[in-house]
Amino acid sequence: MIDANKSSVSKKLYLESYGCQMNFSDSEVVASILSENGFGTTRNVEEADVVLINTCSIRDNAEQRVRNRLNDFKHRKKSKPELVVGILGCMAERLKTKLLEEEQLVDLVAGPDAYRDLPHLIEEVGTGQKAVNVLLSREETYADITPVRLDQGGVSAFVTIMRGCDNMCSFCVVPFTRGRERSRDPHTIVLECTDLFEKGYREVTLLGQNVDSYRWNISSKGEIKNTELPTTNFAELLVMVANVSPELRVRFSTSHPKDMTDDVLKAMASHENICPYIHLPVQSGSSSVLTRMNRNYTRDWYLERIEAIRRIVPNCAISTDVITGFCGETEEEHKETLSLMDAVSYDFAYMFSYSERPKTLAERRYDDDISEEVKKRRLTEVIQKQLGHSLASNKKQIGTVQKVLVEGPSKRSDEFLCGRTGRNSMVVFPKEQCRAGQYVMVRIEDCSSATLHGEVVELIESQSN
Ligand code: SAM
Ligand code: SF4
Repeated sequence: MIDANKSSVSKKLYLESYGCQMNFSDSEVVASILSENGFGTTRNVEEADVVLINTCSIRDNAEQRVRNRLNDFKHRKKSKPELVVGILGCMAERLKTKLLEEEQLVDLVAGPDAYRDLPHLIEEVGTGQKAVNVLLSREETYADITPVRLDQGGVSAFVTIMRGCDNMCSFCVVPFTRGRERSRDPHTIVLECTDLFEKGYREVTLLGQNVDSYRWNISSKGEIKNTELPTTNFAELLVMVANVSPELRVRFSTSHPKDMTDDVLKAMASHENICPYIHLPVQSGSSSVLTRMNRNYTRDWYLERIEAIRRIVPNCAISTDVITGFCGETEEEHKETLSLMDAVSYDFAYMFSYSERPKTLAERRYDDDISEEVKKRRLTEVIQKQLGHSLASNKKQIGTVQKVLVEGPSKRSDEFLCGRTGRNSMVVFPKEQCRAGQYVMVRIEDCSSATLHGEVVELIESQSN
């Protein structure tokens, strides 16, 4: 956290983040940029001079939640007119000046590539003007900025390795709100991870919309840009980060089924500290729906990738994203999703009903013709199926001993701690002698569909302290 008592800190910033991990990671970049300009973060909105909301546009209900929140701040401004309220991220980029001019909900709008401009934008608001910067960039990766960690846990951190997306899945607004795909200099990534490790962090999650297409000094056509410099692909980057320390766990998200290579799987298999967990969103189990979604793979291709994971990283946990009720989805196509879920038996899934987003390919090309009732009924079926699979996956862990990285007190009781296994299962266990950031061996004794419960059988001494 920023030290709010530092003499250079003169103003208080309250940051609230919605949506994906990338947004939470971006908020840490924003906190860093503003800390250089005299802002300390606060968790108490009452004492804030500037409120920034980092937003998500992925589904309509995500936007509605933010609008409600912005209305709260509009009321707050009545008693504190000098309060600056700004909107960042995907909604800022999508709606541009609308929230500012038409709805008059905010003073400041900054898109995902405009955060370096925030000190100037806040100053502009101070002179009575409304401030907007929604320019998207082909280069900006904030590579040189050391994020200010806002989580306070000090164990696990997100590290953004690329920005934007070139995929154009027909349902998705991300390519419009986050711009073109670009990768971050690998040396700055390794430096950030090394710095985190030295500060006591024991886990990094490398973030990108499609991490498998990470490339440095390689063009989109696969050609080397500068033959005198080394190139780096995602499998190589994973190994570089894993080599920071065997005590640093490495995770990554999100993998795309069309791009996930065996080299990535081999890197996982040969490094104990690259966690055996892959999030591989399928979206639908029907090849015809996948074609309409413009996902660029078929059901068979996806199942072959699952087979490759099972072959190369046998103990790997797999999770997914599913959308129900996409344009034209028939009952048969929906059943193909259910049967694919049975074929894979995911350990975990994020499941959504389709929400049409303005400007996307699907909005332009197809009718959003599945009723809300059918979308929701199909979603319930998918969720029910997944609950069964999650429970079965957790039950298989009972009786095993798992290496767990302690994160902190469990949500329900201070007498218990929680942490994750390499396979990303949450484990709750009695406090005993353990502390956050330590590895412990836990014997799993019971479970629900969401959590494992166990007893500590061994504390692992760190080699690096
Ligand atoms: N880049 C990742 C990928 O390709 O899977 C994740 C992108 S998105 C932030 C996370 C998930 O939101 C997607 O995998 C998809 O399941 C869901 N999603 C995206 N657009 C949606 C929409 N219009 N309606 C419902 N769910 C959507
Ligand atoms: Fe959206 Fe597809 Fe890009 Fe993921 S890969 S962010 S779903 S366009």
